[in-house]
Amino acid sequence: MQKARDLAKELKNYLLNEEEGFFICKDAAPKKETSKKANSAQKTTAKTKQTKTAVKATAVKDKAAALAELAKQIENCKRCPLGNTRIKAVPGEGNINTKLMFIGEGPGFDEDRQGRPFVGRAGQLLDKIIAAMGFKREEVFIANMVKCHPMKDPSDPEKHGNDRAPDQEEIARCRRYIEQQIAIISPDFIVALGSVAGRSLIQDTPTFSAIRGKIYDLNLTYAEPSKPIKILATFHPAALLRNPAWKKDAWADLKILLAAMGRKPAAEPSKAKTITKQG
Ligand code: URA
Repeated sequence: MQKARDLAKELKNYLLNEEEGFFICKDAAPKKETSKKANSAQKTTAKTKQTKTAVKATAVKDKAAALAELAKQIENCKRCPLGNTRIKAVPGEGNINTKLMFIGEGPGFDEDRQGRPFVGRAGQLLDKIIAAMGFKREEVFIANMVKCHPMKDPSDPEKHGNDRAPDQEEIARCRRYIEQQIAIISPDFIVALGSVAGRSLIQDTPTFSAIRGKIYDLNLTYAEPSKPIKILATFHPAALLRNPAWKKDAWADLKILLAAMGRKPAAEPSKAKTITKQG
């Protein structure tokens, strides 16, 4: 009986390590890929053009000041009911001069408390993904489609497992903020993490799989970046935690983006196998 329990425990450890092992980066220095450059990028135009109403990035002299002003607006925002139940708004963080942005769906329990994006379990996996791509977290900019914590039961903010995806109305009301952040930061590339960000920013397709892993030209509604921006959607880290088998597909998607950036990954993510033989 004890032996069976030990074996079960060992199997559980093995599975947990498998899940966490992919996207562990072994060596850091990113290498430039000179030959293939942007050739492998699939260029598809997303969404029809719509009227631009706000920020022209070319007019933004001081990115830091513009982003700080936007963050202030976000922190005071009551454009949707999430503004009444949040603990902290989560505008986003990172290198404001980056070439690469990551955009998730919305803050969860931990992010709501810290006011920072992707600081929970999904955030730890995102850090590994960023490292495997050859970047440090502080070299990229990380933000979300909505800036306040969507909860299933807003009357009980202390409850764990209370997170939900933002609804269409919340996304629509918050949309100006992420668009203005994109226009101000003006990255060359964006990774949309998951269906909410992918289908909001690329194309509202019936299935996420229709747009995942392809490079699109980004079109915005509220802002006009000063240069073209490419966007690729892949699985959300939280989905990868639930479905570790999807990690290899996510990695294949991200390598398409890296090739378009003219970069090689820092390292193939390792699979840590810690199971030991019992004699
Ligand atoms: N999930 C998201 O989409 N964003 C976060 O900031 C955290 C979890």
